[in-house]
Amino acid sequence: MFYQNLISELTGVTGTIKLPLIFGASLEECCDYLNGLDDETSQRIDLTSLPTFGGSDIENTSEVFSWDENRVLVQGEQSWELQRRCSECGEAMFHCDH
Ligand SMILES: [Zn+2]
Repeated sequence: MFYQNLISELTGVTGTIKLPLIFGASLEECCDYLNGLDDETSQRIDLTSLPTFGGSDIENTSEVFSWDENRVLVQGEQSWELQRRCSECGEAMFHCDH
């Protein structure tokens, strides 16, 4: 809902789009928003500085684009996906051996 509202605001905007951190928005919603974008818009989103949604910072951010307390946002083969963070070290499961 919060990020969906951005679509109309982005009309007419050119160049790179930096997604803001919106109070009340969730990682899940950010994921849904990215999955719902058309190709042209999604190519303009600045993926290197997506907002994060709480929890401890991730140390290994390779292939990790955002996170909240329990999950990380990753690019799956077909779409953006949420995966669980390791409950021991907090890193993405594919970056630790726990
Ligand atoms: Zn771990």
